[in-house]
Amino acid sequence: MHTMSPDGTAQANAPDQLQAFRMYIDGEWCESASGRWLETKNPYTGKAWAVIPRGNADDVDRAVQAANRAFVGGPWATMHPSDRGLLLHRVGDLIAANAERLAELEVRDNGKLKVEMLGQMKYLPRWFQYYGGLADKIEGRMPPTDKKGMLHYVSYEPIGVVGAITPWNSPLLLTVWKIAPALAAGNTLVIKPSEFASTSLLALVELFEQAGFPKGVINVVTGLGAETGEPLVEHPFVDRIAFTGGNLAGRKIYEAAARQFKRVSLELGGKSPNIVFGDAGIEDAVKGVISGIFAASGQTCMAGSRLLLHSSIHDTFLARLVEVTRAARLGDPNSPETDVGPVATEQQLQKVLDYITLAKAEGARCILGGRRASGGDCGDGWFVEPTIFADVTNGMRIAREEVFGPILSVIKFDTDDEAIALANDTPFGLAAGLWTTDLARAMTLPKRLRAGTVWVNAYRVVSYLSPFGGFKESGIGRENGIEAIYEYLEAKSVFINPKPSISNPFTLQ
Ligand code: NAD
Repeated sequence: MHTMSPDGTAQANAPDQLQAFRMYIDGEWCESASGRWLETKNPYTGKAWAVIPRGNADDVDRAVQAANRAFVGGPWATMHPSDRGLLLHRVGDLIAANAERLAELEVRDNGKLKVEMLGQMKYLPRWFQYYGGLADKIEGRMPPTDKKGMLHYVSYEPIGVVGAITPWNSPLLLTVWKIAPALAAGNTLVIKPSEFASTSLLALVELFEQAGFPKGVINVVTGLGAETGEPLVEHPFVDRIAFTGGNLAGRKIYEAAARQFKRVSLELGGKSPNIVFGDAGIEDAVKGVISGIFAASGQTCMAGSRLLLHSSIHDTFLARLVEVTRAARLGDPNSPETDVGPVATEQQLQKVLDYITLAKAEGARCILGGRRASGGDCGDGWFVEPTIFADVTNGMRIAREEVFGPILSVIKFDTDDEAIALANDTPFGLAAGLWTTDLARAMTLPKRLRAGTVWVNAYRVVSYLSPFGGFKESGIGRENGIEAIYEYLEAKSVFINPKPSISNPFTLQ
């Protein structure tokens, strides 16, 4: 039972109606060492619905020590990879059985559509099946050796304790992208979820407990970035950091990790181009552009926030885009009738509104939306009207900075070369979409785009089978696919000399 203190934290042991969640350290459900709490709010109502422990460096230390003990000793360290794989499969089955509950928690935390979150939850078991299956297929190599008489082989070994730090927009999906390969490879984990969306991960960890994971293998410490994320990155027993989030935090984490030469993967932001050529099928491309920027209220790292539009179809395309977008229904994310939900946090709402003001001041022409949405089914929720700015130039801040909201910048082009140059003229490089019926364009242009994922006549397609990650400032490393398992392994070269025969100890052998 809890009450709120003026700084927005809740105090333990006092009456209140909010649901209280606990964090998970060394196989135990616990409150934070400080006894402090953080409210978690529902973006659709603007009201707090739960509290989570406000962890600190002491909690992080307990969790990392537990993960380190589990890595170096205990049942996990000696478990056969096939058995690790079976445990992961079991978690996948439990997620499938609990998908509805997990989706409900995510909607309450981040306001995204129930239909979207439920779809993600039903897809999550695939990660556990894929990486569970890979756990006992991490094979070494025996390259030919020029060292006469010696046996040489290469083995792939787990790195150690992985610190995973995740954002609020697809809390479980993005965390599972780390959990499944990290555990399949034999590492242990301490996870710091977003302070805005921690509850679904806490519910997921219950399923690990049910599946029979040994204690200490997976730990969750909730709290703020500065109070729990930073100590996690800096803890000397954490060997690798897996981060998804914004570039501001990503840069700080990269710098802190560099001081200890920690391995890192960073999945960061984007300003992805969605390029529509004159030969595109207009109806399909309109839907593709909408799916790129207005689905999830634009709160996806891969949002197609820059529409590069060929001059020959510019006006007709925009007229149809405005018409279809205008019909989108804003409202209760739990309703199957709703197309666009609220943005996830009050801070995010303000940030998006500030970018709208900035775009207008920069001279962009607002042809749809442009305000906080209210009335109808929006209530007190944090809604922003789907907004389209025409006459944007690629040098404007609205075209260069990640907004993470339902704001589309439209930029006109005349030639293929110009489209590619505009698409690549950004510090980011996460994703790009192309809309064309011309086979030559479809086959030649993906190679010219500096982005980790390119879709042709599609948008927002991801799979456990395919690597995902960014070029340039969109990040370092890859998640998903075979690539991800090697992100959680160290290669070791072993030379065995059956007959020691060092002729000259002062030279390279
Ligand atoms: P954020 O960077 O504010 O926070 C992400 C996480 O980092 C949170 O758990 C936060 O508490 C923690 N954190 C913040 N500062 C920290 C610090 N100094 N040290 C350690 N941890 C710290 O991001 P957000 O607002 O939660 O999420 C939105 C961002 O995430 C967007 O920029 C989006 O593009 C990005 N994102 C990227 C991908 C991808 O795969 N590339 C996917 C989803 C979201």
